[in-house]
Amino acid sequence: MAEEDRKEPSAGREMVIGRWPEPEQVVRNWQEGVDLYSGIYQHFMEYVPSVRCSGSDAKVPEEEQAYHILFQTLEWFLFGESPEVGFAKLEQNNTTSQLCGRVFKGGETTYSCRDCALDPTCVLCMDCFQNSVHRNHRYKMNSSNGGGFCDCGDVEAWKTGPTCIKHEHGASEDTKNPASQLPVGVAERAQELFAVLFMYVVDMLIWAEDKELPPGLQPREKTDSYFCVMFNDEQHSFDHVIYSLQRSLGCSQKEAQNYTILIDREGRRAVKDGTMLLCQETKLEIFNITNSVFQSPLRVEILHSNVVFHQAFALRILSWFNQVIGYSAGLRQIFCEVILNQPPGSDQPCLVSKLMLADTKLWKGARKIFHELIVCSLLMETEYKRLFAVEFITHYKQLQLEFVEDDHDRNISVTAQSVQIFTVPTLARHLIEEHSALRIIIEAIIELFSEHMDNGKLHFQSYSQEKLLRKQMVLYDLKYVLISKPPVWTDRQREHFFEGFKTFLRLLKSMQNMEPVSRQIGQHLEIEPEWEPAFTIQMLLKCILSMVQEWCASDEQVLLRAYKECHRVLSQCNNECSQRNARKQYNTLTMCGHSISLKRYLVSRESVSIHLPLSRLLAGLHVHLSKSGAINKLEEFVPSSEFHVEKLMDHPLRCLVLMAQVSADMWRRNGFSLVNQVYYYRNVKWREEMFDKDIIMLQIAASIMDSNRFLIFILSRYELFEVFSKPPVARNKDVIQQTNVLIEELLHLIIMVVGERYVPGVGQVMKDDVTLREVIHLLCIEPMPHSELAKLLPENENNETGLENVIHQVATFKKPGLSGHGVYELKPECLKHFNLFFYHYYKSQQTKAEEEQKKKKKQANSDEALPPPAVSQFFPTFAMVVNILNCDVFMLILRTVLQRAADSIGQLCSEAMVQKTLHLICMALQEEQRQLEGVIAEEDVTFEVYLKATRMGSSAVNAESILSLLEKLKHVHQLDAQKDMIIYTLQMFDVVKKLREKSSPGSADFEIQRANECVQDKDKAERKRKADAAKLYRQKIMAQMSAMQKNFIESNKHLYEKVTEAQKQEAIITEDDSIPLAADSGVALGPMQGATAAEKILLTCILCQEEQEVKTDEMAMVLAACVQRSTALTKKRSRIITNIGDNCDPIIMHPDLGCGTHVGSCGHVMHATCWQKYFEAVQNSTRNRIHVELSFDLENGEFLCPLCKALCNTVIPVIPLQAHSLDSKDTETIADMLTLPRWLENVLARINGLIASGTKEEENSLVQVNPVLWKNPVEFRSILSFGVQSPVMYSKSIVEMLLLFATAVYRVGLKVDPNEADPRVSLMAWSACAFTIQSTENVLHDEDKVLFGSLPDRQGVSLKAVLQFAASQRVVTSAKVIQKHLIRLLSVFVPHLDVEDNWSFLDIDFFHLMVSLVLAFPSLYWEETVELQPSDISCAFNNLYLFHLVIMAHIVQILFTSTTDCPMEQDEEENEESRSAAELYETLQEYTSRSLESKPYGWYLWNCVKCGITPFLRCSALFFNFLLGVPPPADLSKGSSEGQFEALCYYLALPTNLFQLFHDYKDTVTPLLQRWCSDSSVQSFLKGQRTSVCYPRERNQLIDLPEDYSSLLNQGCQHSCPRSSDDEPKNFALCMFCGAMLCSQSQCCREEVNGEEFGACAAHAINCGSGLGLFLRIRDCQVLLLAGKNRGCFIPAPYLDDYGETDQLLRRGNPLHLCTERYKKLQQLWHQHRILEEITRNQDANQIIFDWQQF
Ligand SMILES: [Zn+2]
Ligand SMILES: [Zn+2]
Ligand SMILES: [Zn+2]
Ligand SMILES: [Zn+2]
Ligand SMILES: [Zn+2]
Ligand SMILES: [Zn+2]
Ligand SMILES: [Zn+2]
Repeated sequence: MAEEDRKEPSAGREMVIGRWPEPEQVVRNWQEGVDLYSGIYQHFMEYVPSVRCSGSDAKVPEEEQAYHILFQTLEWFLFGESPEVGFAKLEQNNTTSQLCGRVFKGGETTYSCRDCALDPTCVLCMDCFQNSVHRNHRYKMNSSNGGGFCDCGDVEAWKTGPTCIKHEHGASEDTKNPASQLPVGVAERAQELFAVLFMYVVDMLIWAEDKELPPGLQPREKTDSYFCVMFNDEQHSFDHVIYSLQRSLGCSQKEAQNYTILIDREGRRAVKDGTMLLCQETKLEIFNITNSVFQSPLRVEILHSNVVFHQAFALRILSWFNQVIGYSAGLRQIFCEVILNQPPGSDQPCLVSKLMLADTKLWKGARKIFHELIVCSLLMETEYKRLFAVEFITHYKQLQLEFVEDDHDRNISVTAQSVQIFTVPTLARHLIEEHSALRIIIEAIIELFSEHMDNGKLHFQSYSQEKLLRKQMVLYDLKYVLISKPPVWTDRQREHFFEGFKTFLRLLKSMQNMEPVSRQIGQHLEIEPEWEPAFTIQMLLKCILSMVQEWCASDEQVLLRAYKECHRVLSQCNNECSQRNARKQYNTLTMCGHSISLKRYLVSRESVSIHLPLSRLLAGLHVHLSKSGAINKLEEFVPSSEFHVEKLMDHPLRCLVLMAQVSADMWRRNGFSLVNQVYYYRNVKWREEMFDKDIIMLQIAASIMDSNRFLIFILSRYELFEVFSKPPVARNKDVIQQTNVLIEELLHLIIMVVGERYVPGVGQVMKDDVTLREVIHLLCIEPMPHSELAKLLPENENNETGLENVIHQVATFKKPGLSGHGVYELKPECLKHFNLFFYHYYKSQQTKAEEEQKKKKKQANSDEALPPPAVSQFFPTFAMVVNILNCDVFMLILRTVLQRAADSIGQLCSEAMVQKTLHLICMALQEEQRQLEGVIAEEDVTFEVYLKATRMGSSAVNAESILSLLEKLKHVHQLDAQKDMIIYTLQMFDVVKKLREKSSPGSADFEIQRANECVQDKDKAERKRKADAAKLYRQKIMAQMSAMQKNFIESNKHLYEKVTEAQKQEAIITEDDSIPLAADSGVALGPMQGATAAEKILLTCILCQEEQEVKTDEMAMVLAACVQRSTALTKKRSRIITNIGDNCDPIIMHPDLGCGTHVGSCGHVMHATCWQKYFEAVQNSTRNRIHVELSFDLENGEFLCPLCKALCNTVIPVIPLQAHSLDSKDTETIADMLTLPRWLENVLARINGLIASGTKEEENSLVQVNPVLWKNPVEFRSILSFGVQSPVMYSKSIVEMLLLFATAVYRVGLKVDPNEADPRVSLMAWSACAFTIQSTENVLHDEDKVLFGSLPDRQGVSLKAVLQFAASQRVVTSAKVIQKHLIRLLSVFVPHLDVEDNWSFLDIDFFHLMVSLVLAFPSLYWEETVELQPSDISCAFNNLYLFHLVIMAHIVQILFTSTTDCPMEQDEEENEESRSAAELYETLQEYTSRSLESKPYGWYLWNCVKCGITPFLRCSALFFNFLLGVPPPADLSKGSSEGQFEALCYYLALPTNLFQLFHDYKDTVTPLLQRWCSDSSVQSFLKGQRTSVCYPRERNQLIDLPEDYSSLLNQGCQHSCPRSSDDEPKNFALCMFCGAMLCSQSQCCREEVNGEEFGACAAHAINCGSGLGLFLRIRDCQVLLLAGKNRGCFIPAPYLDDYGETDQLLRRGNPLHLCTERYKKLQQLWHQHRILEEITRNQDANQIIFDWQQF
C-alpha cells in the first residue's frame, strides 16, 4: 500500500518527452551559438525543471528517461557522434590502470601488510590482497569506515610487492599523455564541455539562496512550487524523526520510516511539495513538534522546486563524470586539468577548491558523490594528486576550522582526504619542502586550540567532547605528514622543517606546565578538575614527538639546531617560572662536605605540572645527540655556561616527586583526577614521552653534575634533606609513615637513574634489546597471551610493538585448550635478567612478579635472593651517572637506612627501604667488581664502595660501617624475608674483597668461586635443615586438617552431599547394573527377554538435602527439566512450521522430523513439594519487584535450576523400573501357541469389539450393535488369556507431577494453551519421548560414542524418566482416548480398521510410530470394570510383534526410497542376505506392477537396508533399554564398530538377515506388502511425482566454514542485500544451521511476524530453528545465539589467530583460522539442545540487555 501512494505526480504537469528536441539538433545549436556556456545553461534552464525530479533519490522511470536524454545530448556533443559508438571507441583505446583505486564501502574489509606496508593506512582491497604476495605475510584485517581506496599499484605505499597479479600488467604511468590518444576533436570538446558542466555543478551546489536561481538559469516565469526539505542531523534519534514525520505529515509509519532512512542516507530529502504557503505550514508543524527543551528542532528548509531540481541534476552530472572518466585515462586527465584550473587573472580558487570549501554546507549525499569523484579522478594520477594536494594544503586551515563546526562524521568530510595525501611520502615531503605543510598544519592546531588558551597555556576547563574529537583529527594529519623522513636532506628542506619545528615548539610551549596541580591540605577538592583532554592530546602527541625526534636525528645539522632552539624555548619557559619566584632567596645545603645552593621550592606546597613536553623533547634530543656523537659539537650551539642543567632537571624532578608524594598518600585530598593522571603518566600509552623522558632528564643531569650535589638536590626536592642530615626527631605516626614511603621512592629513583640503561643512546643497547627486556619483565609477572603482551608494550607510529621479533628468543608458546587462549611462558634461562625494581612495573605488578620469582627460586631449591641483574654499559655521554653509586652522600643515605633498620628505632625504617638499599649496595659492588675485573692498573678503578662501606661513618657519633650493619641485620627477625638478600650482599662484599686483595690475579676467580661455594654449602645445609623441619610441620598440619575435615563432613553432611551429588547419581546407576540378574540373556524382546530386578533409586533433594528412596507409592521426586521445540534433526528447516496450534494432529511424525519436542534435564532432583515451594517463592519474590530484568519467563513456568542455574520450564517425576521376569516354562508354551497370525487375530478381535462398544456408547444405544462385529465375546477377551496383571499404582503426588509434565510437553510442543483434558496430551508425550531418543542417538553418533555407557548421567537419568513418563500415560489420560489413538496407529498394519486416517506410507517416521504403538498397546487390555495390564509375558510378545511389524514396514520404506542409483557392477560376493534382499525386491516389483524399474544387485540392496535401518535399530535399542532395563550385550558398549549390527539385532530379537522376517511371516506380511505397494504415495514416488526422505537420513552438521576467516569476510562483503540497493554497510550474519545470509540489525530486512517487528535473524530463527538461532556475524567475528524474542547472547566465533586467541569484534585484526575443536563444540551445543542453557548462563553473567528481537 505504502508503495503505491508514494508520490502522486502533480496533475497537469506531466512531462512530455516526446516534445523534447533531438540531441543532435541541440548539439548543432550549441556549436552554432555564441558560446557553449550560454547554450548549455539555456538548455538546462529549459529542460532540467521539467524532469520533475522528486528529490535526490527516487528513480521514477519517466525521470530516468528524461535524464537519459539530457546526458545523451551532452555525450553527442562530446563525441560528435552517437554516444554508443563514442564510448566503444574509448574503451578500445584505453588501457587498464596499474592502480586499483577501488573505493571502499563502509564495512568492507581491507588488508594491510605489517611486513611491507609503509604505514598502516596503506591498504588493499580483498581482491588485490588475495592476488598479492602479502597474503602469506603478517597481515592485518580491518573494516573500512568507507571512503578510502585500495593502494594496489602505488609503488610508494609498499616496500615490496606493490601490485597484485591482476594489476601487475596494467599500463604503468610512463604511457605519457593519454589525452593525445583520444579520437580527433574529443579532447578539445571535452575540455570545453567539462569546464561548463563543472561550473554548473559548482554554481548549483554552493548556491545559497533558497528561492531564486542563478541568473543564467532563471526561468521565464516563476511558479509557486516549493519543496519542504528536511536535513539530516546527528542529534535526533531515528525513532524520534519517524514519529515527528508521522505526526506532521500525517503519513503512515512505513512512509515516515522510508523518509527517515533516506534522510539519514542522503542527508536531505523533500518531505512535502506544494505552494509556498503549504510548505510554510508544514515547516512550522515540524518545528513545533520537534522543538523541545532538550533538543533543537529538526532542520527544515523551503526550497523552490527549480532549485531542488537543478541541484539534483548537478549531482547527476557528478556521477556522470565519474562514469565517463572511468572510460578513458585521457578524459580523466582533461577532467583533472579543468577542475584544477584557476580562472586566469582572478584570485578566485579553482573549481574543485571552490566546492571543497563549500563542503560543510553540502548535504551528505552530495558530499559522498563529490568525494568519490575526487578519489577517482585527482587521486588516481600522480601529477594531479600533487596539484590537488597543494590546493588542499593551501586551504587546509579553513577546511579544518569548518570541519570542527560541522556536524557530520569525519568520513563524510573532505578533510578525511588528508590521509590519501599526507601518507604519500614524496607528496608529504614535497608539501613540507615547497608549501610549508608542517607549519600550516601545526598552525591549524594552534588556532583550533586557541579557544582553550588561558594566559598562554592550554587549559581545558569546560570543553565540548565532540569538538575536541574533531580537533584531534589534525594531530593525525601531523602524524601522517611525518611518517617518512627524508632520505637526504636539502637546505630547503632543512629550512622548512625547521620552520615547522619552531611552530611545533610554540605549541609545546603552550603545554609546558599546563594545568598545574596544588596539594589540598585540610579540605577535599570540591570539583574534580578536567584532566582527560590534556592526556588525550599527549597520547596523540607521543608518536608525533618521537617522529619529530627521528627527523631531527636523521641529520646532524637539523639535530643541533633543533636542540638549540628547544633549549632556548625551554629556558625561556623556565625563566618565566622563576620570575614568579624572583623574591625567593637561594639557600645553601651542605652534606658530607659537599654543598649546593638552590632556591627553596616544595612540591607539597606549591603548584606542579605533569605536562612538560618541552623538557621531555629536549631530553629526547639529548639522547639522539649522545647516540650520534654530535654531542661533541654541542658546545658551539649551546655553551655549557648557558646550559643550566639544574634548571632543566628541576621540573621533571618535581613531577617525579609528585608521584612519590602521591604514593605516600600526601595528596589524597586531591581526588581521582590526580590519581588518574599519576596512573597514566606511567602507562604504556604515555610513558615514553612522560615518565621515561623524565628519568632520562635526571640521567642527563647526573651525567653532568657532581654526584654529591646531584643527590643533595634530589634530597631537597624530595623534602628529605633534614631526614638525612639531622638525627631523627619524634614525630607523629602519619608523618613517619609518609617519610618512609618517600625514602623508599627516593631509593627507587636512584635505582632507576643508575640502573635503567635500556634506551639506545643512554645505554649501549639496540631497539630489540629494549623490547626484549620489556617482554621478559612482563612474563616474569605471569605467562601471558599474545594480545595482552602486545597491549602492555609501547607501540610505534605504525602500531607495531616489535614483539614478534623477540618473543621467540625469550619465551615458549603454550597452545590453548578448548577454551581459553594460548600463552607465552618465559624460558628459564631468561630469569636471570629479572630486575625487581624494573621501572615500568606498577606496584601491583612488582609485588606479583616478586612472589612469582621467589616461588620459582624455591621450586628450584635455591635461595630467594633477587639481586640486581647484570646491566649493559652506559653510552660514554652518560658514563658519569654511575658515580652516584660511589659518592659520599649515597653512602650516607645507605648507612642511615641500615643504621635505623639495625637500631629498629620506632618505625623509622621499613622492609622495602632495606630491600632497596640492599639492591643499591649490590649494584654498587657489581660496578666495582666490573671495574676491578676489567682494568689492568688499579689506579683506573674509580670505585671504592668496598672501602667506603667498611669504613666507619663520619657523621654520627656511634656510626658503624655498612658491612658491620649488614652483619647485624642478618639477625633482625623482622627482616627474615630479606635474609637471603643480605647474605647475598655479604657474599658480594667477599667477592670484591678478594678481587681487591688480588692475592694472585689468576686465582682470584677461583677464590671467589670457592668462597661463593663455601657460603653456599653452608647455606644449603642450613636450608635443608629448615626444609626438613618445614616438611614435618606441614605433615602435622595436614593431619590436623584432615581430622577437622572429617568432623566437618560429619556435621555438615548435607553440604557435602550437595557437592558430590552428581557423583552420587553415578553411583546409583552402577548399583543397578551390578545387581545380578536371573537370566542375563541380553535380549530385550520376545520369549528370550532378559529379566530385570526392581530398580532401587536413592536420591537426595538438592533443596532440603534429604535423601529418599523413590517409590511408586510415595512422594514424588522430580528432575528439573526443559522442554523445547527443536529442528536439530531436520534438513528442511526453512519451511514454515505447521505442526503447531489447535488444529494440528501430532499422531504421526513426518520422516523429515521437521520439528520435534525435546526434553532435557540438568539431572538435578528435588522433592515435588520442595520444588513447588521453591517455585512459589521465586514467583512471589519477583512479583513484588516490577522492573527486574529476569533471564527467565515466570509466566511460562520457567525457572532456574536452584543448583546449577540452568533454564528449566517444568519438572519430570522419577519413576523406578519394575521387575520383569519370564517364566521359562510358560514362555515356551505360549511361544508355540501365540504366533503372529494368532496374535493379530486376537488384537483384531479385541479392537473390533472395542470399536463396537465404542459405537454403542457414543450413539447411546440408538443404533443396533453390529452383530457381525459383536458376535463373539470370547474372541474379544482372548487377548487376555495370555496373561494379565494389575497395573502399578502411583501415589497422588506422582500422578500430579505426571500430569504437570504432560501438560508442559503438550503446551510447549504444540504452542497452545495448557489443557490437560486434550486427547493430544498423550500423543505429545510419546512424540517427545521418541524425538528425545532420536536426538540422543544423533548426539552419540555425532560424538562418535558407543551406544551404551557413554551418556552423561544427567542425560541417562532424564531419558529414563521421560520414558517411564511416556509409558504411564494411562494415569494422565483416559483409557478410551488411548485406545482410540492405538486403533488409529494400528491401521498401518491392520487392514480394514474403520478409521479415517489415510497416511501416506512414505510419510511416516516408523520410530515414532513404534514408540507410540508400544506405549499405547497395554490400553487394549483395559476392561471397563477392572484396570488390567498385560503380564510380563504378554508384554514381551506384544512388543516383539509390534516391533517386527514396524521394522518390516520400515525396510520396505527404505527399499522404495533409498535404492535409487544402483551400481552396474557386481562388487561383492552374493550371500544369504543379498539373495533374500533381491527376492524381496522382486516381490515388491511385482506388487507395484513393475513401477520399480531397475534391477539392482542383491548386495547393494542389502547394503542400503543395513545402512538405512541402523539408526532405527540404535534408537530402538535405547528405547527398550530405558523402558525395560534389560542390559544390552557388551558389544554395544564397546568402541569398535565391528559386530555392532549383529549385537543390535540380537538385543532386539531380530535375525541378522533381516529379510528372514518376511519369510517367517510370509502369510501375514503378503497382504501388507500388497497394501503398501499400492499406497498412492508410493505410486507417485515411483513415477517421480514426489520426493521422499532417504535413509539413512542425512545427519545435520553446522554449515561448512572456510578455514581462513578472510574468505568469510570476502563472502560477507560480496554479498548484497536482496531487499535494498543502497551501499550502506550491512552487518551480515550467516545462519550456521542452513547457511542463509541475513542483514542483521538492519532496517531493510526487518520482518513483521504476527504484527510484531523482527530483525532478519530473529525472523529467520522462527522457522529455521523453531525460535533458536545460531548466527555468525561476519564483521563482528562473533556468534550470536538467539532464543525466542527476548533471549540472546554473543560468544566469540570459533576462529583463532596464530597466538591461539579469538578476536571478538575484530579488534586486533590478526589473520584468523578456523578452530575445528571449537566449531565442534558449537555443533554439540546445538545437537545437545543446550543453546538455551548457554544463553541463560551468558545473560546471567553479562547482564547486558539487548533488544534481541531486533537482530
Ligand atoms: Zn584493489
Ligand atoms: Zn591489485
Ligand atoms: Zn607483505
Ligand atoms: Zn526436598
Ligand atoms: Zn541443575
Ligand atoms: Zn537458517
Ligand atoms: Zn537487507
